[in-house]
Amino acid sequence: MKFCDQCGAAVRLSIPAGDHLPRYVCEACSTIHYRNPRIVVGCVPEHEGRILLCRRAIEPRRGFWTVPAGFMENNETLQQAAARESQEEAQAEVTIGSLLSVVHVLHAEQVHVFFRARLPAARYAPGAESLEVGLVAPADIPWADLAFPSTEFTLHRYLEDKAGGSEPYHFTTIDRRLTRTPGS
Ligand SMILES: [Zn+2]
Repeated sequence: MKFCDQCGAAVRLSIPAGDHLPRYVCEACSTIHYRNPRIVVGCVPEHEGRILLCRRAIEPRRGFWTVPAGFMENNETLQQAAARESQEEAQAEVTIGSLLSVVHVLHAEQVHVFFRARLPAARYAPGAESLEVGLVAPADIPWADLAFPSTEFTLHRYLEDKAGGSEPYHFTTIDRRLTRTPGS
């Protein structure tokens, strides 16, 4: 962040009085610009044992596969966001079910939340952000071509839970900053 969205003046990183972390502070109007994690919401839509996957038409990870997911909007619930993303990316009307996973993606400053979902009718088509969409049998999931680690984690847990006949939720944390070597 370089400029204040309130007055247009330059901002500077500093720790405000009473705070403990550096924030972007406007030197002209004193506005403190907090930056907090963004929420990505998605679901694993299933139809007769197969899972609806989308191949991304946009960066990041264009051409790779994922489940329908995207940024939560204001004035909607997590479940509404998950259903909306299925509609936008796969033109699929899904029924959102139980909470499946919560993935803290620290390096991206995001929290990813996934639900189980049902696709009552096998009706779907690529939305503007998808190159193709399709129902994929568990044995045919393109694990090596999944877009994001959170997708991989979520699909693994989904299939394990289904095999075990329960619907718990799962937390995990992904932090690529920890594995990055100096200079890379
Ligand atoms: Zn300002």
